[in-house]
Amino acid sequence: MAGPLMQGKHALVTGVANDRSIAWAIAQLFQEEGAELVFTYPGESMEKRVRPLAESIGARACLDCDVAKDADIDRTVAEVKKIWDRVDVLIHSIGFAPRAALDGRFTDATTREVWAITMDISAYSLIGLARAFRPMMPPGSSIVSLTYYGAEKVVRNYNVMGVAKAALECSTRYLAEDLGQDGIRVNTISAGPLKTLAAAGIKGMRSMLGENAEKTPLRRNIDQVDVAKAALYLCSDLGLSVTGETLHVDAGQNIMGVVSMG
Ligand code: NAD
Repeated sequence: MAGPLMQGKHALVTGVANDRSIAWAIAQLFQEEGAELVFTYPGESMEKRVRPLAESIGARACLDCDVAKDADIDRTVAEVKKIWDRVDVLIHSIGFAPRAALDGRFTDATTREVWAITMDISAYSLIGLARAFRPMMPPGSSIVSLTYYGAEKVVRNYNVMGVAKAALECSTRYLAEDLGQDGIRVNTISAGPLKTLAAAGIKGMRSMLGENAEKTPLRRNIDQVDVAKAALYLCSDLGLSVTGETLHVDAGQNIMGVVSMG
């Protein structure tokens, strides 16, 4: 295949918080492959972190979009329309649960309020963004989100976030079926554990990373660039017939049952 894989594509990238964010690795690789970028961040306090990163790789804009607010999503669409006549790629790299929800007993930690906010920001927002941007997304365009194994099997302390990721993965399949008639593909990447801001909120994450490396078939953890390369496959012509998938980028962790009999 000749030429950069994302030449001339317009990619809207949510979820860059800092230079360890999965979305940042995706944005950098897409830019290297010829994409034009627009970033979003949720609220003023995040802007000072995100804008310098966006500017450092020549992003066309950096827009305030808290996905918990319909008005923000609508305003973001309006702002993007001023820059581009189409969006080819939408990266949803957003997850949030109140910190107290990610520690201790699932039954106690998962209050009605915790459930509502976690499901809204971490799962519903994929649907909200897809609906808002669908009119701008031509046939051949692609939506990718980020999920985690805690959606499939119980991971202690991941708690309500696991439930939200299950909703995100299932929504990926329903969106893929619905948006397939518009030629839009929808996939999600199930990434192995990575030391990022979002992960820092999960109790026991640090020790888990150490143990995890030995338990995967490849005997190592993954890094953000591994995820970015998978996103490149899904968002470029390489993945043209792939939709509705949950693609594991986890050094094989998800295939393991009992790790050792010894
Ligand atoms: P991160 O903290 O860098 O990114 C999370 C992003 O979510 C941040 O940029 C934050 O601003 C954004 N966000 C939170 N609430 C928002 C809101 N209301 N509106 C808009 N944006 C909001 O951490 P990350 O690890 O790069 O997380 C990105 C995605 O990857 C998340 O969906 C996360 O669950 C998923 N993921 C992470 C891991 C991991 O181990 N780090 C593994 C698998 C999947």
